[in-house]
Amino acid sequence: MALLDLKYYGDPILRKETHSVKEFDSELERFAQDMIETMTTNIGVGLAAPQVDDLRSLIIIDVSSEEDEEEENLEPFILVNPDIIELSGNCVIEEGCLSIPEVRVEVERPEEIRVIYQDIKGNKKDLKCDGILARVIQHEVDHLRGRLMIDYLSSVKRDLLKSKLQKISRGEIPAGV
Ligand SMILES: [Zn+2]
Repeated sequence: MALLDLKYYGDPILRKETHSVKEFDSELERFAQDMIETMTTNIGVGLAAPQVDDLRSLIIIDVSSEEDEEEENLEPFILVNPDIIELSGNCVIEEGCLSIPEVRVEVERPEEIRVIYQDIKGNKKDLKCDGILARVIQHEVDHLRGRLMIDYLSSVKRDLLKSKLQKISRGEIPAGV
């Protein structure tokens, strides 16, 4: 396995639309494993392919450190071509993003989702979830559409982050990240 280079706020790839995965081969499996290693090393709960400079529709989720015991899906898992087809409820949760280090923002999103996706072998899956898992999936699916968590902020709140964001886009990534 290999660690992949993370792309940070200001990199144009984070604003691009991804394309769906059609080839479910060993290269895809290797890429997904590299993404898991990269996410784990950087202590993230989710990672989307554009964050490692790849425009395939693929996200990795690992909420095992965040979820309470009764939740399922505690292993890192891979969602290929995810599509959120149902949304309900509403809640505010603080989010972070590996591409926007040291920035945490409260974001309001639907509380429960239903997502259809394919696993790493191409098998079709259908998942209903809520809580942190639903939250992380929504954040990562946004990455596949070129959307970032700060897009949800009011202009006033975004202004408060301006100097931090400018530093990140100039490549001044905080130490230890
Ligand atoms: Zn993110």
